[in-house]
Amino acid sequence: MNINDFRFDGSKPFKVNEFNTKQEGNFKKRSEAEDLRDNHINDLQGLQEKLYAEGKEGVLIIFQAMDAAGKDGSVKYVMSGVNPAGVSVHNFKVPSSEELAHDYLWRAMKVAPQRGMITIFNRSYYEDVLVVKVHNLHKKTSLPERVLTDDIFNDRYEQIKNYEKHLHENGFRIIKIFLNISKQEQKKQFLQRIDDPSKNWKFSDGDIVERGYWDKYMHAYEDAINATATKDCPWYVVPSDKKWFARALIAEIVVSTLESINPQYPEVSEERKLKLKEFRDILMSEE
Ligand code: ATP
Repeated sequence: MNINDFRFDGSKPFKVNEFNTKQEGNFKKRSEAEDLRDNHINDLQGLQEKLYAEGKEGVLIIFQAMDAAGKDGSVKYVMSGVNPAGVSVHNFKVPSSEELAHDYLWRAMKVAPQRGMITIFNRSYYEDVLVVKVHNLHKKTSLPERVLTDDIFNDRYEQIKNYEKHLHENGFRIIKIFLNISKQEQKKQFLQRIDDPSKNWKFSDGDIVERGYWDKYMHAYEDAINATATKDCPWYVVPSDKKWFARALIAEIVVSTLESINPQYPEVSEERKLKLKEFRDILMSEE
């Protein structure tokens, strides 16, 4: 599995109609993908500990997707590999009145990662160029006339690109993941949520309404990804009809990004080593 096949960094266009959401890679059987995923989860534990100990770079993982594509499961799964003390998760819901009273990046900036930490965004400021674009929600807010031009979303793409560049240049890595499912697979997942009483809570009336805007959403995703994919802050489009494949690919993307950071435990100076030896002697001299 080569993550570069799924990486969009501005050097090739992402075309939603040409993307196969059912891909399974070269795995001969599902258990091979699950083994790879489990190995990566083990690697992730060690890498995260070093990232935390070193405290130089921070990592932001953004998950965007249509409903039922597996965002929640993906978040849970990445979390399973790491020490909770070094990770935080933030869900981006319909903005509150306080959030709407600020610029749209404000709520994300408040919870951006610290050095040494992994921060996961379940949805993100990309909603402001996705759901907001699909439903023209910006026109219902208190934005001044001068801002409400036809260029508003092109302007936002630039603002997002600049914000992500700023984070990258200040020592943070950003992994942007679009879990891409087909409309057919979403229908299957929705039916499961309706038919299985233990999954009823996952289904909300609005899910059917949003499904009706499928094509508009796909265009919005395509535009947003192409406009904000850069070498330093690329998008990964993860085929998500087969969840086991999506999970293995996500694991590979996260681990390879952490490996590229190559975090190290802080070096211990000679002076500190002598001090530690002194402490050791004190402990050993106790009865
Ligand atoms: P999820 O599907 O992410 O698990 P949910 O559907 O259970 O979440 P909701 O309470 O419905 O949780 O919150 C997510 C909703 O908030 C989505 O419909 C999303 O489009 C919407 N949302 C997020 N950000 C914005 C925004 N900036 N403007 C308008 N709606 C937004």
